[in-house]
Parts: sequence; structure tokens; C-alpha cells
Amino acid sequence: MSIETTAPAPVPTPQAGRPATTAATTATDAAARSTASALFRTPCYSWCIEPGDDDEPTAHESARVDLAPPPGMEGITGPLMHAVLYGNDNCTNPTPNVHLTVGTEDDPYTILTPQQADEYADRLDAFAAQVRHLARQAHEPRPEFCPEFPWCKETGEHNVHTSRELALPDPDGTGNYLGASLMAEETEGNQVSLGFEAGGGWTGLDSAGLRAEAKRIRDHCGELEKLAEFLSCEEANNRLHDTEAATR
Ligand SMILES: [Zn+2]
Ligand SMILES: [Zn+2]
Repeated sequence: MSIETTAPAPVPTPQAGRPATTAATTATDAAARSTASALFRTPCYSWCIEPGDDDEPTAHESARVDLAPPPGMEGITGPLMHAVLYGNDNCTNPTPNVHLTVGTEDDPYTILTPQQADEYADRLDAFAAQVRHLARQAHEPRPEFCPEFPWCKETGEHNVHTSRELALPDPDGTGNYLGASLMAEETEGNQVSLGFEAGGGWTGLDSAGLRAEAKRIRDHCGELEKLAEFLSCEEANNRLHDTEAATR
């Protein structure tokens, strides 16, 4: 776990909404704890470092744990997040809760039940593992490029060179169409050829064939646009019929 803890702050700064357990570190605090009533508040929790004073005699607060910012975060000097365990004997449910603040002392905090705090700690664990995984991936060697063709996506020993596929994603995003890819085989003298995907099958095309095919596709796109124009008229008719049906 990468959460850093700091030594107990001698004077936790009181936060809005949470009763301050100490007003200031003065001799009067020590004096307050020496009152007779304080004798009846022992023993306290093992984690409590702020036994209540006469103003708030039933409050308990733990030492603060901080999540320190990473190195190089300009303008951020304090912890990113900090937490304390807080309990008050006067509450309906006296079970202490974790008060978690994101940001500085002045930022709002959230109150987590012990179970919620436990679950959130699992998420922090998972985040730490992901950051660690990224750091380890940084050391992975990059696969070496194919020595024969700059477009070849194969790595390591290979006799067949193939490129990535240049393709158009289909309208529902589940696949591709109009795919084209480059290929060359050592056994055939590394002659570069192109495979073109047409209607589910692959056809070999040379540059002239690919240009001719591109022109056919452009012409087809013009026809598709005309069809869209026709369809928009039909859609307008549909809307008209719907309106008429609704007002009838
Ligand atoms: Zn206490
Ligand atoms: Zn290759």
C-alpha cells in the first residue's frame, strides 16, 4: 500500500462541521484534562490522541493519515487526501467513523462507516496496483521493427510480411468493410501485393485495380447521397402522416 502515514499532528486543525476537539495547544488544555470530570472518561480508545476537553468532553479523534502528492506536483504542497477516525459518545450511533477529506483542511470531508472506509481502501489498493503496473510496463522492451518493410506489422522471425488493415468501420461498429492490406512473401521473392476485401472475400489488386475500385466506390457514394435525398423526402411524408393521424 502506498499510502504514507505521518506522525500524529500535535494540533489537528478543526474542520467545519466536525466539532473541534482542541481549540489550541495551550496549557489550559492540559489543565482541562486534569479536571475531575476527565477522570470518568477513562479508559479511552487505543487510537484516540485527542481526549475530549470540557467543551466537547465526549469526542475522540485519531492521528491523521495523509496521502502525499507525487513528486513534481507544482502548486500542491499539502496531502491529496487525509483521513481521521472520529467518534463521539453523545451520538445516537457511537461507532466511530472515518472522516475523509480530499484536498486541504478547508475542503469538505465525507463521513464513511467502517465498512465503507474498508471498501474505499480496496479501491485505493486497486489504484496503487494499476499505477505500479504502469511503472513496470515502462520497462517492457519494444518489439523490433521488421527489417524488410516499414509497413510490416509482424515482429520476430517471419517469412510472410503483412501490414495492418486499412478499413472502414461498419455503421454498427461491430466490424470493418472495404479493407485493404499489403502483403509480401519471402518464398515469392518479397513481391508486394495488395489484398482488397470485397463482400466478405479478398481480391488481389494492383495499383491500377485499386484506383479503379476507388473510383467505383466514389461513384457509388454519389448514388448513396442521392438515395439519402430521396429517403429524407419519404421521412418528411411519414411525419406528415403521423401529424394528420394524431389530429384526426
Ligand atoms: Zn478519546
Ligand atoms: Zn515483415
